[in-house]
Amino acid sequence: MRFIEEFRDPHRARVLLARIEQLAAQLPRRRPLQLMEVCGGHTHAIFRYGIEQLLPRNIELVHGPGCPVCVLPMGRVDDCVALAEHPNVIFTTFGDAMRVPGSRKSLLQARADGADVRMVYSPEDALKIARDNPAREVVFFALGFETTMPSTALTVLRALEEGIDNFSVFCNHITIIPTIKAILDSPDIRLDGFLGPGHVSMVIGSAPYEFICHHYRKPLVIAGFEPLDILHSIYLLLCQLVEGRCEVENQYRRVVAAGGNDAALQAVARVFELREFFEWRGLGSIDHSGVRLRGEFAHFDAERRFSVPNLKIADPKSCQCGEVLKGAIKPWQCKVFGSACTPKTPLGSLMVSSEGACAAVHSYGRLDLIRARELREESA
Ligand code: SF4
Repeated sequence: MRFIEEFRDPHRARVLLARIEQLAAQLPRRRPLQLMEVCGGHTHAIFRYGIEQLLPRNIELVHGPGCPVCVLPMGRVDDCVALAEHPNVIFTTFGDAMRVPGSRKSLLQARADGADVRMVYSPEDALKIARDNPAREVVFFALGFETTMPSTALTVLRALEEGIDNFSVFCNHITIIPTIKAILDSPDIRLDGFLGPGHVSMVIGSAPYEFICHHYRKPLVIAGFEPLDILHSIYLLLCQLVEGRCEVENQYRRVVAAGGNDAALQAVARVFELREFFEWRGLGSIDHSGVRLRGEFAHFDAERRFSVPNLKIADPKSCQCGEVLKGAIKPWQCKVFGSACTPKTPLGSLMVSSEGACAAVHSYGRLDLIRARELREESA
């Protein structure tokens, strides 16, 4: 298939759904099968196209922690605000991160209060601002999984090459493998398989996921982001489960190569090193789950160049983002969903980011269908 429309073809979707239905009927009925989509992009597509409501009742999709803005703890947002409020700093960030609440304020509120916070589309844009403003300090808020790490690494290498010394990176890049491991080790979560992240896999390839099959005996299918990609990946997962196989499969072969992207991996390895641990919203501290700039790039590291408070701040009591991120509850089961917490008045990051599960559920207005389905299941 070559064009987007073909990946949204209703006839093909019906054929796949019928096959999913047949396979689901062969599964044991003790409890619904739980498949986690790790990536926020998948969560978004699942709600946008209403995929969850089309699936048989004994298949449940669990939304994972794959949205980098959502998993940022409140203390790191406070650090961003503190950096942005430095008198000579221009703080640059992707738009999604502007409205994430900190304990005092968001970056958007900091901008309203006078801080120079600018939205950029790439780290290259931030470097250009540094070139154009040699008398100011330009800090780039780097966040994201392995998908966005290479562009940050290449920008740091370019800054070094050009001798730009008023540019630095507040590094919040995180890595996917320790995160999946932490979820698998979590005692309150019982997953049966994974829809593997498409964009991250484009960089790291498929081999790093092998341990999930070998050690935890769970299948994983790397999935694309169109509706047929997701249905096809669910179908492939069910085939494995029905046949008693447990493998890493690559449904997204048109983009993901088995070995990943060598040039991107080399740039990442040159610029970054693993942190001993990194704090995640809702998941706590996970060993080796974040990276920082290597010592030779210390000059470009905003955490070494400026003082940041680096405080641990607990989420507000009413906020259940952590539970949603772990897949322990659904977004609409949070006590403040749609009341105190809406996209206009977000209490938690999952209602802010375009990839956040709460924002996705809220945006696509399918709550009536979800509730009707839950009521049907309760009365069955
Ligand atoms: S509704 Fe708001 S507070 Fe509750 S989990 Fe979602 S984002 Fe967090």
